[in-house]
Amino acid sequence: MESSVESSSVDIPPLSSRHHQPPPSLPHHVSASPFLTQQPNQPNNGPETSPIFNLKKIFDGFLPFIILALVKVGYDHRLGILIFFAMFGTFIYCNAKVQEVASPRHIVSVGLILFFNIFLLYLTFADQHLYKSLYFFLPSFPAVDLWTLLWIVGMNDFIIKFATIAIKLVIVCLPNRTICCRKKGQCYQLIEMASQSYRCLIPITPWFYFLFSNSENEGYILSTCLLIVYTICKSFDVYAKAKDLIKSISIFSNFQIYGSTPSAQQLAVYNNMCAVCHDAFVSPVQLPCGHIYCDECITSWLDRERTCPMCRSKMQDGPKWRDASTSGNLQLF
Ligand SMILES: [Zn+2]
Ligand SMILES: [Zn+2]
Repeated sequence: MESSVESSSVDIPPLSSRHHQPPPSLPHHVSASPFLTQQPNQPNNGPETSPIFNLKKIFDGFLPFIILALVKVGYDHRLGILIFFAMFGTFIYCNAKVQEVASPRHIVSVGLILFFNIFLLYLTFADQHLYKSLYFFLPSFPAVDLWTLLWIVGMNDFIIKFATIAIKLVIVCLPNRTICCRKKGQCYQLIEMASQSYRCLIPITPWFYFLFSNSENEGYILSTCLLIVYTICKSFDVYAKAKDLIKSISIFSNFQIYGSTPSAQQLAVYNNMCAVCHDAFVSPVQLPCGHIYCDECITSWLDRERTCPMCRSKMQDGPKWRDASTSGNLQLF
């Protein structure tokens, strides 16, 4: 222990000698040292004068009050916030479960959880008639303030997502002889795109009521301007969703294949054996990279991945939403 103290004292010059040395011109990274910045007569040329530092200082001053306000808002709306987290947790759980290949009992339990959540929400807030939003009417609220808007839009968004997962569960249950593996993936994609398009339209009515809430008084011009801006922004969103929906309908209606039919010679190179199922080829398909797989094997693979299982070359057609997953984005506007 003593030896270590002695060795360290050798490296550091005595304090008195350091006082007599003129202050060296230090590189920039050293000027950030707290010993230098705390000297009162030196001009502040360090990061303390930067706009970001000043903003941080202002923010630090407001921070306790922001936290106080958030705690108050959180307490006032504790029930709504708790329900939001419960719905979010249910969504995460059910969205993950629907993608797993599970037993019928397992599928029924996920379906019951979804149904129970939808039923409980509408029953608990029966006087609000939240379901009216589903056919573009305003639920029963005297006025639409920001919180009411978020409540209507957020809860109905969860309800539509739950219904979407429930419909996908029905497709999962269908045996492969009823609907082939390839069509299942495209079916999930079509359901998801239809659901996203519908979810995109649901917030329009509450938003119109929210933006037009003070239109009777002098705020008429402002409300009209806000409404025009909202309509313009929203039309871009609706257009993008409609485009995706049309594309998924066209993929679903055309019997799309991922590759071409290989020749007998090409099959012989692979000893007539699929690299995915390690069995004889069934309806073999050759990908653009040259590798050959069973139609069903490669379809179920490409519904989840974007690459060839062997050489990892990228496929042009992405598998978006073909794995039965549902978008977790909260459509609030
Ligand atoms: Zn195979
Ligand atoms: Zn390949």
